[in-house]
Amino acid sequence: MSAVLEIQGLEKTYRSRKGVRKALDGFDMVVEAGQVHGFLGPNGSGKTTTLRTLLGLIKPNGGRMSILGREVPQALPEVIGAIGAIVESPQFFANFTAQETLSLLAEAGGVDQARVTEVFELVGLRDRAKDRVKTYSLGMKQRLAVASALLKNPTLLILDEPANGLDPGGIREMRTLMRNLADVGMTVVVSSHILGEIQLICDSVTIISAGRRVAAGTVADVLAQHQAASVRVRV
Ligand code: ATP
Repeated sequence: MSAVLEIQGLEKTYRSRKGVRKALDGFDMVVEAGQVHGFLGPNGSGKTTTLRTLLGLIKPNGGRMSILGREVPQALPEVIGAIGAIVESPQFFANFTAQETLSLLAEAGGVDQARVTEVFELVGLRDRAKDRVKTYSLGMKQRLAVASALLKNPTLLILDEPANGLDPGGIREMRTLMRNLADVGMTVVVSSHILGEIQLICDSVTIISAGRRVAAGTVADVLAQHQAASVRVRV
């Protein structure tokens, strides 16, 4: 197995009028190719800061990040697709059909229209592609957001708390989608603060607490380490 993503010693300190806050304190993470990797930690532990840093949206104070062995000062859409807290809730024009929406995004991004058909298939929305986005449930909009992130066929897909706000059916569909993407060779990093939400589908997990990695490995390994470290994460 080879690492798609490697993060070493990532540091981020926020300075504001409220004071100084160390969000990442030498954080490390390794994600192997073709896996669904869970990125787990309580609220405020540094997950979004890590993912936004990886996407080039936040400048770290130290550390290194590489994708497929190449340093990433900032992410390229051909390398990383992302949805979630990063774009808050998915925003689409409600009166456009899903097909029109993705076709426009493909055109703007210089992506072949044939890829639009492929991504609708991948996210399980082919039968609803001609429907207006306003008829979509939140879960379907979330999968449409994943579809837009997949247009450039990225190596790595980052989903920041994709299950937020979804009903149980929507969560199940999102899980199936992540598994299907790993099955076609994509590497998926999914963040959550609820272990139970991601343990069914993750090949491996990193647990972050107070800006540091406190456990990593398979879900079973991590549960054992997690108990040893007595870090509280909702299960
Ligand atoms: P959540 O699950 O609640 O989104 P998280 O694990 O994603 O949490 P971060 O959002 O990365 O955690 O926050 C890590 C720490 O950094 C928290 O203490 C947070 O309050 C602080 N923080 C995040 N963004 C800023 C900012 N722009 N300015 C100051 N402090 C910030």
